[in-house]
Amino acid sequence: MRQANGAYIQIRDLRKTYLMGKQKVHALAGITLDIPRNTFTVVMGPSGSGKSTLLYLLGGLDRPTSGQIIIDGTALDKMDENELAVYRRKKIGFIFQSFNLVQTMNALENVAFPLRFAGVPASKRRKRAVELLRQVGLENRMHHKPTELSGGQQQRVAIARALANSPDIILADEPTGNLDTASGFGIMQLLSELHRSGKTVIVVTHDPRIHTFATHSVYLLDGKVVSEAEFQAAASFAFQTASEESEPKK
Ligand code: ADP
Ligand code: MG
Repeated sequence: MRQANGAYIQIRDLRKTYLMGKQKVHALAGITLDIPRNTFTVVMGPSGSGKSTLLYLLGGLDRPTSGQIIIDGTALDKMDENELAVYRRKKIGFIFQSFNLVQTMNALENVAFPLRFAGVPASKRRKRAVELLRQVGLENRMHHKPTELSGGQQQRVAIARALANSPDIILADEPTGNLDTASGFGIMQLLSELHRSGKTVIVVTHDPRIHTFATHSVYLLDGKVVSEAEFQAAASFAFQTASEESEPKK
């Protein structure tokens, strides 16, 4: 079902509830958001606020408990498992904090890997992987395995791999979380280039430097979207409480 109206990505009263023993955890407690095409959205929130859950649902890696995600006029909940797999492969590029590269494969093989499932012949897979590694600045590291690359280089390989099937949407879950300051900044610049080249980029991060590149900001607390003011108030309260606790006792 396609709907002509509305934003590229529409999230409507999205809820995800996990059962931990008998206790319900409301990871997402009713999220409503519009994300326009070709924007760079940064999602901020403390640990446990539902950031990863939101990205997984957007990426079709999991299904919500209730509510809707409509991408480019198509509702994800109307898709069967096969359609969802095609959606994940064609429309979404996922980037993780821990890179998730295959350790036994070199950079070239890692990047070419997703193309295999898209039915691309071997010679074309290689050509495309070379092109992508060049794009992320790793033309001199194609035959290196992940253990022979720095963290920043591994994340570049992961980004090249995420781009293999030319997805419209890039979802990145704390992509700079395991990197030093300088390589983290390089990864943000690379994500920003993807945005400028026309992709819709959504990044979950704790790093405030990403705001330099973002066109939209979303703040999450306890599975809900809050305003920047509410978010800052909660953050300064948490900071105060933490510094009072760590005050030396006389
Ligand atoms: P964030 O990425 O912001 O740290 P998450 O989306 O990972 O937050 O988690 C949100 C909440 O949902 C947390 O309380 C977390 O413990 C809970 N949660 C996440 N995944 C699961 C799961 N598979 N089973 C049970 N609880 C989960
Ligand atoms: Mg997370």
